[in-house]
Amino acid sequence: MNVTPTSPESLGARILEMAEALARHSDQPDGLTVSYLGAAHRAAARDLAGWMREAGMEAEIDALGNVVGRYAGAAPDAPVLMTGSHFDTVRNGGKYDGRLGILLPIAVVAALHARGERLGCAIEIVGFAEEEGLRFRTSFLSSSAIAGAFDMGVLDRTDADGISLRDAIRAAGLPGTEASIQALARDRGRPAGYIEVHIEQGPVLLERGLPVGIVTSIAGSVRMTATVTGVAGHAGTTPMTMRKDAAAAAAEMVLAVERRCSQAPTLVGTVGMLSVPNGSANVVPGRCDFSLDVRAADDATRDAAVADVVRECRAIAERRGVTLDLATTMQVPCAPCAPRLADLLEACVARAGVAPFRLPSGAGHDAMMIARLTDVCMLFVRCGNGGISHNPLETMTAADAGVAAEVFLDFVRRFETS
Ligand SMILES: [Zn+2]
Repeated sequence: MNVTPTSPESLGARILEMAEALARHSDQPDGLTVSYLGAAHRAAARDLAGWMREAGMEAEIDALGNVVGRYAGAAPDAPVLMTGSHFDTVRNGGKYDGRLGILLPIAVVAALHARGERLGCAIEIVGFAEEEGLRFRTSFLSSSAIAGAFDMGVLDRTDADGISLRDAIRAAGLPGTEASIQALARDRGRPAGYIEVHIEQGPVLLERGLPVGIVTSIAGSVRMTATVTGVAGHAGTTPMTMRKDAAAAAAEMVLAVERRCSQAPTLVGTVGMLSVPNGSANVVPGRCDFSLDVRAADDATRDAAVADVVRECRAIAERRGVTLDLATTMQVPCAPCAPRLADLLEACVARAGVAPFRLPSGAGHDAMMIARLTDVCMLFVRCGNGGISHNPLETMTAADAGVAAEVFLDFVRRFETS
């Protein structure tokens, strides 16, 4: 087999090789945990910057620790195509979540550089330093700064050791000033577009036998907390007909969430936390707290479901004689992918010999934030092991990485004419 530097095989192998090398940096010896601005995180950033420079790019680490590489276009005023993803991880996470979206473009730019090829667009690769929120319970910290939407209030937030975000940034040798963070914001419409490659983190492509898929929209989410208050009573002496059991009421509400959120294709609803505070085996629950997370590919579908769920839960509470307090803790709008970019991506997928398949992203990604700045699109890559992610069992193949790289290379070559 004749393997040229731009063959999908060699690109796929190089991407996985870099992912393995990057995964050697971890906060803990067993498993992969890379929290924002820890020693492992900074070592990973140095590796990324080094690989960018080897690939013929100018690279720097910016005021929030993001690794930014630039590969100039054929003309000095060429439009800029931004791409990237995050390199921090969840606790005991996977090697490809986020990282694939940095390493794949680096491998592709290295191949372009080796051929002496310049494009109609300049490529800017951003290794976002923080997306997962592991250390400071933030999310989209990096991409929000680049989108000009950074919340300066989080600088005073502290980690588990009482270190503030501001001090953590300064300890990493960065200025940690509001001005330095504000300066990271890009002008609207420049970049001219953004593409993010990400492992699917779900089983859909795997079940369909497809290496890649085109994302239609990144689901926004509504998160709520619910407190059900009934009356605590003796488990032995309170007759069933005279109870105001908060946990039984909550159980009925959980089933109402499941039923309503099963009624539209992209809609999902989850009660991921449920507890009886200070509960006891011999006491009828007087209180039950639960969380609610509802997502869909469009805001109207999601909001209609949330409204129905709230109405149904209130009716359950009334019928059972318990009270229900609901608080919305997060509301993020959906980010639709730009049709012109999704169409271009679809054509590239077809040219790579893969049947184009479109799917929504149920998980949030940096592209959601960058959508405030410019048109975005996303390419999903098949996740092995049943689609498991945020887990050390997360896996993907070099062959799939190679197909994704081939699609990406085609996309960047055609981007300026789209
Ligand atoms: Zn991710």
